[in-house]
Amino acid sequence: MKGYYKVLWHSALLLAFIVGGSYFVSGLWGGKPEKIDADRTFSFSPGMTALDFASVNGLPAPALGAALGLRGREGLERSLASFGFSEPELSLKVQKSLALHNEERSKNWKKIVLKFALWFAFLGAVFILMRRGLIKYRLRNALYFAAVAIFGVVLGSDPSPMGTVKDAIVLFGAKGVFFPPRLAALAVFLLLVILANKFICSWGCQLGVLQDLLFRLSRDKNGRSILRQYKPSFEFTNTVRIIFFSVFTAAALAWGLDIVEPVDPFKIYNPAMVKMAGWLFIGALLSASLFIYRPWCHLLCPFGLVGWLAEKVSIYKIRVNYSTCIACGTCELACPSTVMSAILRRGRSIPDCFACGECQSACPTRSVTFSSGRRDLPPAGKFK
Ligand code: SF4
Ligand code: SF4
Repeated sequence: MKGYYKVLWHSALLLAFIVGGSYFVSGLWGGKPEKIDADRTFSFSPGMTALDFASVNGLPAPALGAALGLRGREGLERSLASFGFSEPELSLKVQKSLALHNEERSKNWKKIVLKFALWFAFLGAVFILMRRGLIKYRLRNALYFAAVAIFGVVLGSDPSPMGTVKDAIVLFGAKGVFFPPRLAALAVFLLLVILANKFICSWGCQLGVLQDLLFRLSRDKNGRSILRQYKPSFEFTNTVRIIFFSVFTAAALAWGLDIVEPVDPFKIYNPAMVKMAGWLFIGALLSASLFIYRPWCHLLCPFGLVGWLAEKVSIYKIRVNYSTCIACGTCELACPSTVMSAILRRGRSIPDCFACGECQSACPTRSVTFSSGRRDLPPAGKFK
């Protein structure tokens, strides 16, 4: 079979497996769709108790109790007036409390705990393999496929590193609250970035690994592109990403709008939720992934941008030992992005490194390592 037919055939099979498998598995998990309710108006009347207010407005008692600063149901028999809130104040408190209550109820906590446990186990194993320089072509693709199957098809579109940033901004814009478990998840993801570069993006994010796998399907085992592949400049991709992040944040804060939601590509793992616009966008994005390395991560992902900033203080990262490096440029050629060029040529800013280890396995003198410590500057003039 000609190389490019093979790429298209393998990509089509992979996507059929993801859509079919996810459709089946997401049905088994069940659960409520995550959506932020529109602001409501509440009925008040003088002399109402808190319990009357809850029953007239169909409010869950715990959400109302939290809004009134009560513990459990105790105090719900008190009159509303005794809490000393004006109607607008009470309405705002109840809206916020309801939003947090609904967030909490929409989560499948068992699945979330399982996903984080498997993330730690999987990333730990890959970290060891990477430190030993054992990740080569076949194993790399097998690991990406395993990550797609486990973190995407089986464990679904949520949670994801991107969701922690995107949904936190949208919920704050719409309701003025942060959902504490989401902030805790974001803190965990950022800690992972600080520990080991974008390791969570490289090997754990269900959309990141899918784009990566598609990109690799378009390369042969010697790292040569079968379909023509491009490396857009980081100045371009990061500018687009910053502009998109600003527009996204402005829309969320000004109108409580989530402009990613209609085309959210993570929803490929929950196909029943995807509409026509979403399929068109996902199709375009995944097709682009055959030609450009991780287009969503580089151009649009909110966590991509936040993680790139956190990456600046990563403990483990790709480093080059210039005393053994023979300046052959093999690692630069192997790197799917422009990171290695920036490292070797003292670039003003280093693009997102997805800790894929391709440069490490390509180096003929083992001068590239994934190790801790400061990244040395190359000797001036070593790389023309
Ligand atoms: S940057 Fe890419 S890998 Fe990281 S969270 Fe976003 S989509 Fe996932
Ligand atoms: S090949 Fe590029 S993206 Fe991959 S680890 Fe090396 S520098 Fe980072």
